Amino acid sequence: MNLRDYVRDIPDYPKEGIVFFDIAPILSTPEAFRYAIDSLAEKFKDSGATKIVAAEARGFIFGAPLAYKMGIGFVPVRKPGKLPYKNRCVTYDLEYGTDTLCIHEDAIEPGEKILVIDDLLATGGTAEGMLKLVKDAGGDIVGCGFVIQLGFLDGDRILEEAGQEHSFLIE
Ligand code: IMP
Repeated sequence: MNLRDYVRDIPDYPKEGIVFFDIAPILSTPEAFRYAIDSLAEKFKDSGATKIVAAEARGFIFGAPLAYKMGIGFVPVRKPGKLPYKNRCVTYDLEYGTDTLCIHEDAIEPGEKILVIDDLLATGGTAEGMLKLVKDAGGDIVGCGFVIQLGFLDGDRILEEAGQEHSFLIE
């Protein structure tokens, strides 16, 4: 299975000059979606992770079924104001400006082994925010998995500098 065949390139979205990689065909094709989840599960089967951390909205789509498949927990990362219990938040840099992500204060036990999942690694800003959230909570990040990496954006440098194991299904 070549998963890249199920990613659609949308020119000039959301702005002129940007090509958006649309994962909708992966999701609407049962064999492709199953292949993506099974491949991530295979990559991280020996990671020892007990929870997956993933950010809204597209991270949930891959993170939740992967947690189910691996038989481990799932921790949703959300924008401020969305999680009902006490929040722990981080603000991180984007290409233009900053963004903030939050988890529930009690979502991660100190020393707990965590797998960070997202659909796509672009600049690495979102991944860096998630790493910071997990580390601030005392979690031990045992891997980072993405369906797609946009190689020309160097987002993996952030993961390398942080010494984090990472892998991609499409590079
Ligand atoms: P980064 O923070 O620059 O690495 O951007 C990654 C985040 O933005 C991920 O959570 C993605 O869901 C989203 N994202 C950025 N570009 C794309 C794209 O081309 N397709 C799908 N999601 C994208």
